[in-house]
Amino acid sequence: MAYANNGRKPASEHVYADTEIWQCSNCNCWSRVEFVYVEDPVCPICNSKMVLETKNIRVE
Ligand SMILES: [Zn+2]
Repeated sequence: MAYANNGRKPASEHVYADTEIWQCSNCNCWSRVEFVYVEDPVCPICNSKMVLETKNIRVE
């Protein structure tokens, strides 16, 4: 989509960015904030409270 054919192909075609996520306080489950529509989400796996964190994840 935004690929520029300028001969400087990056080592990785994927783009990573610091993104706000809901991280489960009890297990490794997490979800991007933009995909969560409740103010106080609980983990879908273990029903624990989730906390806001920033994670470097792949965005493209
Ligand atoms: Zn969990």
